[in-house]
Amino acid sequence: MHVKTILNRVEKFKSFVYGKAELLEENGRPLLLVEVLPRRNGKPLCSRCERASPGYDTLAARRFEFVPVWGIAVFFLYSMRRVNCALCGIVVEKVPWAEGKHRLCTSYMWFLARWAKRLCWTDVAEAFQTSWEQVFRAVGYAVQWGLVHRSLKDVSAIGVDEVLWHRGHKYLTVVYQIDQGCKRLLWLARDRTEETLRGFFVWFGEARTRALRFVCSDMWKPYLEVVAEKAPEALHVLDRFHIVATMNRAIDEVRAKEARGLVAKGYQPVLKHSRWCLLKRPENLTDKQDVKLADLLRYNLKTVRAYLLKEDFQFFWNYVSPHWAGWFLDRWCKKVMRSRIAPMKKIALSLRNHRELIMNWFRARNLVSLGAVEGLNNKLKVVTRKSYGFRTFEATEIALYHTLGALPQPEFAHRFC
Ligand SMILES: [Zn+2]
Repeated sequence: MHVKTILNRVEKFKSFVYGKAELLEENGRPLLLVEVLPRRNGKPLCSRCERASPGYDTLAARRFEFVPVWGIAVFFLYSMRRVNCALCGIVVEKVPWAEGKHRLCTSYMWFLARWAKRLCWTDVAEAFQTSWEQVFRAVGYAVQWGLVHRSLKDVSAIGVDEVLWHRGHKYLTVVYQIDQGCKRLLWLARDRTEETLRGFFVWFGEARTRALRFVCSDMWKPYLEVVAEKAPEALHVLDRFHIVATMNRAIDEVRAKEARGLVAKGYQPVLKHSRWCLLKRPENLTDKQDVKLADLLRYNLKTVRAYLLKEDFQFFWNYVSPHWAGWFLDRWCKKVMRSRIAPMKKIALSLRNHRELIMNWFRARNLVSLGAVEGLNNKLKVVTRKSYGFRTFEATEIALYHTLGALPQPEFAHRFC
């Protein structure tokens, strides 16, 4: 059987045929070089306007890397023609296997990009004996294609969030779509200022913004202000998981301070190794942590009181009636304000300040996927952590759209992976 029989099965072109194939050895690696020839009476297409045009001349043969097989690199060898287009002048022809100046075949780029969803880029480069830069280029191409072809129709709920990246030194602002049928990363940018989020609304456009019914965010002030200004008709909801995260940070603060105090006064270090028992939900504790927590609760410590206040607040989310939930919230805040635990009091104050937005949670909870922001954030962290090699914002941005953007792909006649 000829190599071209297989190639015609997986990647057939209308106006080109495969010529002879040659197995070479280059830099200690086997390499399959397959000649591609234009069909005898096929007219070349102008690469700008895609109209069939008379040939002008032929350039030197060029290599295009194709999907490797059996650990053998595969290249197409083709001499590009130039056309004399009536509209565009003398222009290089359009070929169906590659785009623009790319040296990788389009199929090979999609092949690498698809693997880059399952493995980190370094692993992909290693598995297919190519470079990190080639994988980066391939994913960049796939993301570009996806962004151009994605639909932004029917976005009715978004979640705005700030996330740390670059080894925890810098912030990104991310906007997710959190409609029940479609959860994906819509947009991201550096920083977390008012200016950053305004950038989103400018890009998203007025008509789409007007169609937004829900915006979910944390209590970060610049976001609150921009959302109020740009999307006043949408129901603004404060996210549950952010509120829980703020309480956990407060408990951490109280615990660290109290633990230091106990040691300084020469008491038993009862708070040692207690961090996770206090931050995790009780149902997620290990047996050992369970015992530790039970032990801790015997002490009259600020940390323990802060923990009990946090656990008490969990009931808030279980209310069916927003009215009674509001009653509970007010009572809880009052209790916390009397607690003399400063970090918790700070939370109670901000919950009071944003009471309306928190109560909106009850109006939105059955209509949008409010938990989606947390889930998408967790995935995002996995990507930014895995991608230690992403020194630039550009690479991070591409990787995030690639894994979280739910971007479309073209239809292929053959699936390579
Ligand atoms: Zn043209």
